[in-house]
Amino acid sequence: MYPSRFRYEAPRSLDEAISTLRDGGDYAKVLAGGQSLVPLMKLRFASPELVVDINNVPGLDYHRAEPDGTLRIGALCRHADLERSGLLKTTQPTMASAAPLIADPIVRNRGTLVGSLCHADPQGDWASVVLALGGSVVARGSRGTRTIPLADFVTGPFQNVLDPDEIAVEAVIPAAQGDRSGGYLKLERRVGDFATVGVAVALETSGGKVTRAGIALTGVGGSTIGATEAAQALTGQSLTAETIEQAAELAAQAARPRTDHRGSAEYKRHMVRTFVLRLLSRGPAAQTGAAETAERAA
Ligand SMILES: Cc1cc2nc3c(=O)[nH]c(=O)nc-3n(C[C@H](O)[C@H](O)[C@H](O)COP(=O)(O)OP(=O)(O)OC[C@H]3O[C@@H](n4cnc5c(N)ncnc54)[C@H](O)[C@@H]3O)c2cc1C
Repeated sequence: MYPSRFRYEAPRSLDEAISTLRDGGDYAKVLAGGQSLVPLMKLRFASPELVVDINNVPGLDYHRAEPDGTLRIGALCRHADLERSGLLKTTQPTMASAAPLIADPIVRNRGTLVGSLCHADPQGDWASVVLALGGSVVARGSRGTRTIPLADFVTGPFQNVLDPDEIAVEAVIPAAQGDRSGGYLKLERRVGDFATVGVAVALETSGGKVTRAGIALTGVGGSTIGATEAAQALTGQSLTAETIEQAAELAAQAARPRTDHRGSAEYKRHMVRTFVLRLLSRGPAAQTGAAETAERAA
């Protein structure tokens, strides 16, 4: 199918993009990688009157660490940039393990992390990763700039809090306060597919104890789920078989899966539990023996 008729603008600065959106009325859409918006327009699930393509706006294609360790990912940083990033491999284990699992190489060459957060697909992988890491989105519009924690940014399936004239300019991952570990595991029917179940775990540890934990779930609810009770159960604790099992159980309870063609709700909940056990028990912070005990419990 072809999209319905729309006006296309490709501004050359952020200010121009914002004023184009402001003057464009209520049903304008930003185009970044186009890997979600264009299919939706072709299927006529989305029929914006105005499409504002930000690909000509310079200076948005970065990802970089600040001196204090804060990571900033610009609105035109592609999934493929993150997949190939040496910075992520050495400093961001959860992001580095998720990056190669997003879609397929063609989609990864165009699609963006920030676009994925804005799209707010319950099966989008980056939202879980950024939520687990305590990240936020920086939005700029005609009323200025604001920083929105990801937990408040996504309000439901395919919904975010951006005003019609706001552009998400970057995602921000706060610096770790201890040693960072974690990962992302995804159950998919075939390589390149959306998640049947995805689990992101991000840990910071110091002196053998967890100083900060984040656990977030993909594809098992109406939107990305932060398993906050599971994460809280780990904070201040050592990673023993008992604390790992408790966190896995609480994360499984936080999931809200539905039975569909990808599997039963019970199976998906079981996979959440199994993935949390695996991610926590394989990390460098896990105590000796925790891995074996936790795997037996899966
Ligand atoms: C075949 C296929 C398989 C896929 N598989 C996966 C997968 O396994 N996992 C996964 O997570 N994703 C998957 N995706 C989605 C892909 O990751 C998209 O790249 C991503 O969801 C959207 O990023 P984008 O840059 O392409 O955004 P676009 O398609 O350009 O935009 C998506 C939405 O976000 C808005 N938007 C984008 N950028 C901004 C911005 N800077 N400010 C304000 N609004 C903005 C747009 O207006 C639009 O509503 C898949 C897509 C395809 C086509």
